[in-house]
Amino acid sequence: MSEYSFFGAVEKSFDKAAKFTKWDPGILEQIKQCNAVYRMHFPVKIGDKIEVIKAYRVQHSHHKLPCKGGIRFALSVNLDEVMALAALMTYKCAIVNVPFAGAKGGITIDPKKYTPYDLEKITRRYTSELIKKNFIGPGIDVPAPDYGTGEREMAWIVDTYTSMRPGEIDGLGCVTGKPVTQGGVRGRREATGLGVFFGLREVCNMKDVMDKLGLTTGVEGKRVAVQGLGNVGYHSAKFFQEAGAKIVALAEYEGAIWSKDGLNVDAVVEHRRKTGSILNFPGATNFAKNTDALEMECDILIPAALENVINGENASRVKAKVIGEAANGPLTPEADDILAKKGTLVVPDMYLNAGGVTVSYFEWLKNLSHVRYGRMEKRFTENLNSQILGQIEGLTGKKVNQKEKEFIMHGPEEVDLVRSGLEETMIAATREVMDAWKANPEIPDMRTAAYVVAINKVGTSYAELGIFP
Ligand code: GLU
Repeated sequence: MSEYSFFGAVEKSFDKAAKFTKWDPGILEQIKQCNAVYRMHFPVKIGDKIEVIKAYRVQHSHHKLPCKGGIRFALSVNLDEVMALAALMTYKCAIVNVPFAGAKGGITIDPKKYTPYDLEKITRRYTSELIKKNFIGPGIDVPAPDYGTGEREMAWIVDTYTSMRPGEIDGLGCVTGKPVTQGGVRGRREATGLGVFFGLREVCNMKDVMDKLGLTTGVEGKRVAVQGLGNVGYHSAKFFQEAGAKIVALAEYEGAIWSKDGLNVDAVVEHRRKTGSILNFPGATNFAKNTDALEMECDILIPAALENVINGENASRVKAKVIGEAANGPLTPEADDILAKKGTLVVPDMYLNAGGVTVSYFEWLKNLSHVRYGRMEKRFTENLNSQILGQIEGLTGKKVNQKEKEFIMHGPEEVDLVRSGLEETMIAATREVMDAWKANPEIPDMRTAAYVVAINKVGTSYAELGIFP
């Protein structure tokens, strides 16, 4: 087990990076601390019993507003974890230039033990507790999905908020990750997984980085293992598969499966839906523990479940050359040290899984502007493209084939704009972090480089804001 708490591990990584910055110790201390911690207990009637539910919302920073971060439903939720995840949100938003401060929430329950009706009562009561303390609002603090929550819970939150704040014109922006029918944005569901893919694809396209690892450039043909087939793991695996990578291992609670020829992600999901387990997938080898997937022969390993799964005990057995942290905090500081010595490239959670919050930002902007992306320009662009195409065909006397024609004519839909904004964001962030790392040979790993980038941005904010006298 790690000798650090999760928040302690985040602080340790922060300190390791702070040495490579020039900020006043006071500013560094202010960046590091959690600004506001709200722990609550509230009663909810479940069947004929009253249950006292424990929940949290932590606002790690306030250098920008609103604060932003998901809400987790899990039995393992505790104050230390929520603080660590809130801190990671501050750094994550800074790296991808999303103008939010960091926050996180959590309710200590096992959501599988409750009916949807009970979960709705718990979620609505939690939301009203946040409203009472002014811990939620489009300009204050904007929650989102995280482990154990999704669109359904976000719909309950927005409904509770808008009922209690009638007439608030921007009320829909109080939470993101909503269903599209309730003010959500197209492309949010797959955003984190797609962001993980875009980030890792950019790393794989860097020839010098791949050469050092003894890998070929590009994603095609890479052997990928994914631990966790939830929203993030599923979509990461799916996008890698579509880009021509081989998904050699997949893991869920009940165990792991492996196939050297590659697994079809949707077929595995369908098999699990039918049989209740990932195991016994035709043509694949079974492994009893889901953590076995972490030690399998592959090029890229994507832990996409919970924190601390790669630690001092198993890190030396990890065979992957690249680890893409889709989950938050899947490696302990001990694992970081062991892997850095082995020469494994760890692409850190802090920016790699920022696709979710990036598209949340787009959703929030959509809510504030009260118009769907693409609504104003789609038809105009299509008419213009059609005109240009007609001119080209007329001047050259040649016809463009139908498939190309449709591609060129197409005006942007909401999902096209969201995905292109995400792609741009993830590529720019990957390059910025890599450049910071290359600029200082003393920086030991990519995580530290990411922290340096984040600290410099948040530090600039605090310094320019000044400290309130
Ligand atoms: N829970 C996600 C994360 O950890 C998304 C947060 C958000 O969209 O605000 O980044």
